[in-house]
Amino acid sequence: MSVLIKNGRIITAADDYIADILIEGESISAIGKNLAGKADSIIDASGKLIFPGGIDPHVHLDMPFMGTFSSDSYETGTRAALYGGTTMVIDFVLQTQGKSLQHALNDWRSRSDNNCVGDYSFHMAVTDFNEDTKKEIKHFIEEEGIVSFKTFMAYKGALMIDDRQMIGLMEEVKKCGGLINVHATNGDMIDYLVAKHRSEGKLSPLYHYLSQPEITEAEASERFVDMASYTGCPGYIVHLTCEGALNAVRNATKRNQKMFVETCIQYLLLDASLYEKDFEGAKWVMSPPLREKKDQASLWAGINQGLVQVVATDHCPFKWEQKLMGKNDFSKIPNGHPAIENRMELLYSEGVAKGKITLNKYVEVSSTNAAKIFGMYPRKGTIAPGSDADIVIFDPNEKHVLSAAAHHMNVDYSGYEGWEVTGKVKTVLLRGKLVIDNDKCLAEKGYGQFIKRKKVSQII
Ligand SMILES: [Zn+2]
Repeated sequence: MSVLIKNGRIITAADDYIADILIEGESISAIGKNLAGKADSIIDASGKLIFPGGIDPHVHLDMPFMGTFSSDSYETGTRAALYGGTTMVIDFVLQTQGKSLQHALNDWRSRSDNNCVGDYSFHMAVTDFNEDTKKEIKHFIEEEGIVSFKTFMAYKGALMIDDRQMIGLMEEVKKCGGLINVHATNGDMIDYLVAKHRSEGKLSPLYHYLSQPEITEAEASERFVDMASYTGCPGYIVHLTCEGALNAVRNATKRNQKMFVETCIQYLLLDASLYEKDFEGAKWVMSPPLREKKDQASLWAGINQGLVQVVATDHCPFKWEQKLMGKNDFSKIPNGHPAIENRMELLYSEGVAKGKITLNKYVEVSSTNAAKIFGMYPRKGTIAPGSDADIVIFDPNEKHVLSAAAHHMNVDYSGYEGWEVTGKVKTVLLRGKLVIDNDKCLAEKGYGQFIKRKKVSQII
């Protein structure tokens, strides 16, 4: 099966030119002007932009959390991602304290395998680092193709590891050629503030926000960066939200340290005033919480300064009835918000169309850098001969309105209800197959493949 895409404006992290793309099988075989039209099918992309398929390296599908599961399955979540131009996601396997990493991976695979429509991989969250866990790291990197290990500096008693475990894990992961991801907030400070607010009868979603002030994230980010510097382990801070935490990274770069930063689309676009809407604020209860306008300005600047390399989502949807579990107590609201389908269009509309970032930067932070950092480049993350034919054909001018009525995520509200965006994903190919065309999904669950990743280079 071959496909020829004619006359599109091809945008990569480095290039911007008009040419034809020939796809044979699952990969790109040639790019050039006026390629001969011998393909089985031809797509005319005149007037359209062509991006590499988006990569969202931070999602939680069908994830057990606070007594329930995030509402998107691997099928609905990866399908919604494709509608929004994201062809690959990286989800998180969570180790149960007292059990092995392999046990957790088997559990996650029982939900993910043969159920994904789009491509996927996993980060392995290490919540209990000990002598047994240590022995599994090499196997995960070399055999399972899982090279990134997530750590939590919060959620004590469930997910958090202490600094002693962090240092031990970093030394092992560095030795084996992997990378540490971190949820960097000070769990003890937050636990103290949550208990204090509850004891004072302050139970609305606003107090979720007030229990996680900027300093809790800035302190933990700095501590993580220091530990990574000491061990020499490459680090990646997930969902960084604020100026204080970003400044910790700025300081670290003065000593030539390798440290990567991800933010999420919501932290660029939404702010904490949404928590003043009584219980409706529960829609945006996530950790860390939304911040202030000055933090948004820092994050946009950080993207352009190269300090923030990735814009992800932390997609972790819960239906409204699940959010109601915390109706009378903010600490019982399941954390997370839906965005897997909206990220690429929102970032284009608010970033590129409004002049905050260039087209090349857009591709870099929505696809290329994630592929490089997490060991998939150049198979994923670019448009080049030999790369997987993961391609988004995008109309930069078409306007449309985001809403729960129109989206494909399995959740009954939108965090962006009524938001008008400029630019629309029109056609998506994943490994050479036409998967989205004219608002229809043409792929079935099971088409999405688990992508084994390579050791990380530490350099992007
Ligand atoms: Zn997350």
